[in-house]
Amino acid sequence: MKSDQKRVVIVGAGMAGLTAAAYLTRANFNVTLLEKNDRVGGLVGTFESNGFSFDAGPRAFVNSGIVKPILRELGIEFDFLDNVITLGVEDQLFRIHSMDDLQEYQRILVHLYPENRADIEQITAIIRQLSEYTRVLYEFDNPNFVDLKKNRQFVFKTLIPWTFKLLHALRKFNQYNQPMEDFLKRLTANPSLTDILIQHFFRKTPTYFALGYFYVYLDYFYPRGGTGALSNLLEEYVLARGGTIQLNTKIAEVIPSESRVVDADGQSHPYDHLVWAADLKTLYRCLNLTGLDAATTANIEAESQRKQSARGAESTFLLYLAVNRPPAFFEQHGGEHLFYTPSRQGLGETNQAERLRLVEHFDQVSKEEVFAWLKKYLQRNTFEISVPALRDSTLAPEGQTGLMVSCLFDYSILKNVETAGWYDEFKAAFESHVIRILSESIYPNLAEDLLFQFSATPLTIQKVSGSSEGAITGWSFETTPPVVNTLKDIPKSVLTPIPHVVQAGQWAYSPAGVPIAMLTGWYASQSIIKQAKK
Ligand SMILES: Cc1cc2nc3c(=O)[nH]c(=O)nc-3n(C[C@H](O)[C@H](O)[C@H](O)COP(=O)(O)OP(=O)(O)OC[C@H]3O[C@@H](n4cnc5c(N)ncnc54)[C@H](O)[C@@H]3O)c2cc1C
Repeated sequence: MKSDQKRVVIVGAGMAGLTAAAYLTRANFNVTLLEKNDRVGGLVGTFESNGFSFDAGPRAFVNSGIVKPILRELGIEFDFLDNVITLGVEDQLFRIHSMDDLQEYQRILVHLYPENRADIEQITAIIRQLSEYTRVLYEFDNPNFVDLKKNRQFVFKTLIPWTFKLLHALRKFNQYNQPMEDFLKRLTANPSLTDILIQHFFRKTPTYFALGYFYVYLDYFYPRGGTGALSNLLEEYVLARGGTIQLNTKIAEVIPSESRVVDADGQSHPYDHLVWAADLKTLYRCLNLTGLDAATTANIEAESQRKQSARGAESTFLLYLAVNRPPAFFEQHGGEHLFYTPSRQGLGETNQAERLRLVEHFDQVSKEEVFAWLKKYLQRNTFEISVPALRDSTLAPEGQTGLMVSCLFDYSILKNVETAGWYDEFKAAFESHVIRILSESIYPNLAEDLLFQFSATPLTIQKVSGSSEGAITGWSFETTPPVVNTLKDIPKSVLTPIPHVVQAGQWAYSPAGVPIAMLTGWYASQSIIKQAKK
């Protein structure tokens, strides 16, 4: 290390920590990335099981004008494959190739709920309008990653006109910044129709996000080799530029007055700057405030209180299946990436009062009732299904196919089930219900050709990522998030009241996901680069 090189410690080697590390090694900082797991990527990763490759987290990436431009700006070459989304309810399926396919969605909805034709026409008109605003936001490369000095024509011809469109879109988003459930209730009295439209989004998702998502379906891509290829490329980049990545290192204490973190083995890691790119409740739990002045301590304690009293969003229950059928079968039945709802009935009360009872009054519910609820919850739910081998044929043995099937699931219910001692039985019941439901609907007789199966629950996700409440994208929408949640303020999302500590990742800004994790990783790196220049 050169004597003038600033030491940056980054905690958490997910997409946020890796992005911050990439930019800081490029700017010649002395970077150490500390990660509790034995691999990088955090919630993103691809693993192998008996010759099948499965994705652990996102089934594909949404570019959002952020992911590809960051990789391009870093000079990281990557090979990405198309990822066409299919939406389906019962036997009605369609693939989304352009915004024109919204017509087909409308036709299917009218076919399923003919009595609601007028409501559906009004709702699809709003979906079209909000998706067009989403297009403004997503279609354009984030200007942070375009060299504006070298590209003056771009500034006048493209950037300035786009900025006006963006401001208009953001104003519209503000008008639709209300929970999707409340908004749709005003447009239709049919709860099944509402459920079918939104039950695969987190509860209380802002309307602009959920109803503008039709455009986002067009923005997905899949890296060759699986989603984990992206985190591996960032890891290689950091190592090639002299960064250190220390795996199996869990940070247990942060001591800002001494500018050091301490890992679970008692090893100290001194820093000039710290980037916390992991769960934020954990950061505030790990803080040792000795030696800080009274005003700073009071600020930090107030912030800690805000964070600890907020909750993470819903988690996911994920089923992995290895099937002795060729990918061509799945190509004909839904394709590589689908959101599939086996029943038009919708979740209704199973996701409202009945679910709440399992969360809040579990001790008053019998085991039979819990398992009966699970069966009904799965029968009426929407599943996200992904088939890696349909994008990249090397991801499964010849003539066979791996599938990931998931639905949103409450961490608290699993926690209650575990405390009751029924965890393994519950997992087995989840697996057999989902296999039966798929065998009776989209994949006829699937159960007969299964080679093996296993599943991951919200508790698995919590354990792997250290994510509070097993949340897969940060804070819940059900209460005001304790972080920045307006796009214009996003540069501030990385600031903390803790001296020389910035934050990044899915807990730093809401709503989040991979693009926001990477963007906040970039903002964290820029904040440090700026401070170092002072
Ligand atoms: C099933 C699933 C589906 C998803 N689908 C999508 C999608 O379609 N689109 C989308 O945009 N996003 C999706 N996401 C969310 C997305 O994966 C995350 O938002 C994003 O990867 C978060 O990155 P991060 O770096 O902020 O956090 P993480 O990936 O959680 O990384 C944090 C890292 O910190 C480490 N860590 C935690 N505590 C400590 C400690 N004390 N010491 C050291 N290390 C620690 C963890 O091990 C982890 O590696 C999905 C996630 C899952 C699980």
